[in-house]
Amino acid sequence: MERPVRAAQRPSRLAIIGQPVAHSLSPVFQRAALRAAGLSIAYDREDVAPDQLSDAFTRLAAEGAGGNITIPHKEAAAGLIARCTPVARRVGAVNTFWTEHGALVGHNTDVDGAAATIKALCSSDVVDPCDLPVVLIGAGGAAAATLVALHDLGYRHITIVARNTARAQALSARLSIPSQIASMDAVDVAVGAAALVINATPVGLRDDVFPVAVSALSARCAVFDLVYRPGLTPWIAECRRAGLRAEDGLRMLVEQGAAAFEAWFELPAPRVAMWHALNAVPPTYHAS
Ligand code: NAP
Repeated sequence: MERPVRAAQRPSRLAIIGQPVAHSLSPVFQRAALRAAGLSIAYDREDVAPDQLSDAFTRLAAEGAGGNITIPHKEAAAGLIARCTPVARRVGAVNTFWTEHGALVGHNTDVDGAAATIKALCSSDVVDPCDLPVVLIGAGGAAAATLVALHDLGYRHITIVARNTARAQALSARLSIPSQIASMDAVDVAVGAAALVINATPVGLRDDVFPVAVSALSARCAVFDLVYRPGLTPWIAECRRAGLRAEDGLRMLVEQGAAAFEAWFELPAPRVAMWHALNAVPPTYHAS
């Protein structure tokens, strides 16, 4: 088992770097976590344009800062930050950083967030994950983190469904994670036998479109939508009405933040305070 990744020094301040960043929920639950842990450290939003990212990193390193990185900078950050942890290098994206010896260190906790959700959804499966077919829809940055999480949890029968199958091929090859590749035209067939179906596209974020019809899913399937929005995504709401174990991206959001908190401070993350700040509670599942 790998040792948890930890910052060598506590950040002087925290910030989330993105553009746009005003909508980010990270300050909401990270400030609650800091309060609950008795740490008087600020967590700010910083709206940074792509051509300002390098200068922002120089300034943050000089300040001894830490924080998170969100759209559209996660992949660019992996190229700009000289020292990345092995998982950030592997995924090719940074969502968490801190300062060590005057230089930034880039890390990726989206993998932890995805793994925590998959474990929560599938903990009642008695079958070895190696034997369970999984369908991952999407081939972008969030799909990369989720694919690494699936692989590290032991899933071996993975199909990536993407509208750009060349991008899916490239993702599987870059991560050295053998996967079947299918186009969106074949999504209904691909999900028919799947024990776990994951949406890692923005479908459902700003519309009521489903990544795949609920009627195409098997009755024992678990469903993970990386998308989250106020209330449930329409797809997850419909999956639950159909009696499926189904979860949106909120747990992934909280768990990537919890893993970041634990890396910055070497303290257990106050998860109850974090969920409470979002006016939510983590769903639980019972074996049927
Ligand atoms: P990204 O790098 O832009 O990748 C998006 C992927 O979705 C690409 O493969 C893209 O295909 C595909 N896609 C986009 N629109 C589509 C459509 N209408 N039909 C089919 N495929 C479509 O974005 P990302 O960073 O991976 O993020 C994806 C989503 O994950 C975000 O919208 C966000 O809601 C969610 N997310 C959640 C968390 C969390 O903590 N819960 C964390 C990260 C991301 P092409 O290659 O053809 O463009």
